[in-house]
Amino acid sequence: MKAQTLAVHAGASIDAVSAAVAASITLSTTFEHAADGTRGPAGLEYVREDNPNQRQLETALTALEGGAVALVFSSGMAATVNLLDTLDAPGEIVLPLDVYHGVRRYCRVVLAKRGFVIREVDFAVTRDVVATINALTQVVWCETPSNPQLVVTDIAVIAEAAHRHGALVAVDNTFATPLLQNPLGLGADVAMHSTTKYLAGHSDALGGALVFARNDEFAERVRQRRNLSGAIAAPFNTWLTLRGIRSLAPRMEFHCRNAAALAAFLENHPAIAKVNYPGLASHAGHAIAARQMRGFGGMLSVRCGGGRDAALGIASRLRLFTNATSLGGVESLVEHRRSVESAGSTTPDDLLRVSVGIEHIDDLIGDWQQALA
Ligand SMILES: *Cc1c(COP(=O)(O)O)cnc(C)c1O
Repeated sequence: MKAQTLAVHAGASIDAVSAAVAASITLSTTFEHAADGTRGPAGLEYVREDNPNQRQLETALTALEGGAVALVFSSGMAATVNLLDTLDAPGEIVLPLDVYHGVRRYCRVVLAKRGFVIREVDFAVTRDVVATINALTQVVWCETPSNPQLVVTDIAVIAEAAHRHGALVAVDNTFATPLLQNPLGLGADVAMHSTTKYLAGHSDALGGALVFARNDEFAERVRQRRNLSGAIAAPFNTWLTLRGIRSLAPRMEFHCRNAAALAAFLENHPAIAKVNYPGLASHAGHAIAARQMRGFGGMLSVRCGGGRDAALGIASRLRLFTNATSLGGVESLVEHRRSVESAGSTTPDDLLRVSVGIEHIDDLIGDWQQALA
């Protein structure tokens, strides 16, 4: 089945008792044992380990990413941390220079102290990434397109190099979503999502996920770690996330179309120094993105020129684009990332990150026109 169809149907079933078509929320924290003290008929025991809404969302994400098994978490960071904490020190972690700031911070502050060497490289330059991978590399962490500079990474080439050295390849697929890019099909071992963003899609449910290419011992160790760390998502959040996924395909079509039109408008505007959007022919990673993605996504960032004050001025004059963090919801957002990223941020001071929503494109462009006038 095509991704658009899977998004609507994967993980869905008619309720055996009520014949309800829409999924229910099961809030029970505990499930009745069989008479002999073992698990009941559904194999469930305690909510922290497994529960019906988590199972449904995991089934859907496994199908959408073409994986063997998925694990959902309380947040994207919980998914990332549970994966990275399953690695055994000593060893090396290869990390992009432009990467979600929380991941950079966790690697630099926590993992470096535990005996990992963190190698930060420009993932726009594939040969530099390949040259950094060696026999000590445990994981190559990719994020493509990246947050917030929209750097595009060649997943297939990097996965090939990593596997030659026995390293794992994980790809943060949050910006692309499984509709536009499937890292596992390009050779990655794990696809990671902050489901908080496009998958849930309405800025109302925190969540994260890992989808594994193989249901192997490593995936099992991450599952056990999730249970022991308690980084599980609440049933209400997994229910909301799967509800969001049902309309992912049409939402992504609008996000992509609006972002492409806004990027083209901003690229030609004299007040904007540079537009980072993989769909633009001028983008350094355009050819790779065109090869490995089925659309260029709804995220872009702009360099305003004139530094921090110019950027903050534009953000404050925009009316339809709310100046707020996060992304991937139906509403348009804009943010001066440098102001919110912790010490050690590599984000330029004149950069605004833009999450292009699904409003009418005329209103979106009109808002930038007045803000830049
Ligand atoms: C938001 C985000 C994360 C972190 O996810 P949370 O759900 O906020 O924990 C990781 N990677 C990317 C690309 C993100 O945008």
